[in-house]
Amino acid sequence: MFNITAIPALRDNYIWAIHDDQRAILVDPGEAAPALNFLHSRKLQLKAILCTHRHNDHIGGIAKLREVYNVPVHGRRHPNNPHITNELCEGDQLTLDALAVRFDIIEIPGHLDDHIAFIAPDILFCGDVLFGAGCGRNFEGTPAQLHHSLQRLALLPDTTRVYCAHEYTAANLRFALACEPDNPAIKERIVATQQLRAANLPTLPSSIALEKSTNPFLRCTHPAIIHTLQQRGLIDTSGRGVSELGVFTALREWRNNFQMTAA
Ligand SMILES: [Zn+2]
Repeated sequence: MFNITAIPALRDNYIWAIHDDQRAILVDPGEAAPALNFLHSRKLQLKAILCTHRHNDHIGGIAKLREVYNVPVHGRRHPNNPHITNELCEGDQLTLDALAVRFDIIEIPGHLDDHIAFIAPDILFCGDVLFGAGCGRNFEGTPAQLHHSLQRLALLPDTTRVYCAHEYTAANLRFALACEPDNPAIKERIVATQQLRAANLPTLPSSIALEKSTNPFLRCTHPAIIHTLQQRGLIDTSGRGVSELGVFTALREWRNNFQMTAA
């Protein structure tokens, strides 16, 4: 059996450590120092690095870590990510004997083209595609790709624990409440999130069930969200109704602006 521990890094990243009392696997080490401190303080031997996508706050610590631990780096190859030693693509399975864990790999483009997710029973490492009560920005590809990627993640079992790479939940919940002011699950999650953050604890992992009840980007068919977008003039309702993708795209654009004005 293994544990999964959050290592806070950079401003608001989490490097996730899958570990027992001897060995560890790191997911998205964007910074080496906190990861090395974690490994040294617990006397853990690093066995592998997993990489969800090539943004520097996810790969920035890999080179230094590999100077100390010559371990494989599993991820999707990309010209701007020189660290990958073992290529993973849609449909691959990755077995890590050190901790007896096996991941299914799916490609989830829409934040970046090379983004993948690592999925084990009741475990999801989703990088910057799905966040607590939110989703990643659409830097590459189309909104349709990001929407499709999120829909694939939402099909995982409700009990799946969602290990996102950033502590964005509180800010995302402010947006979620603006989308659905009367959703009691969002209000409950805001209280729970405030309590966790006041105790300096991560709000993650969440679960697929919690995301489906509070994350506006997984709730694009809900009438309350469509109503809010209509009231704000963010979707065109002159036709025969609005598509789910239309709602998603309007939400993502609104969130981009909301983020700039939010506290
Ligand atoms: Zn990213």
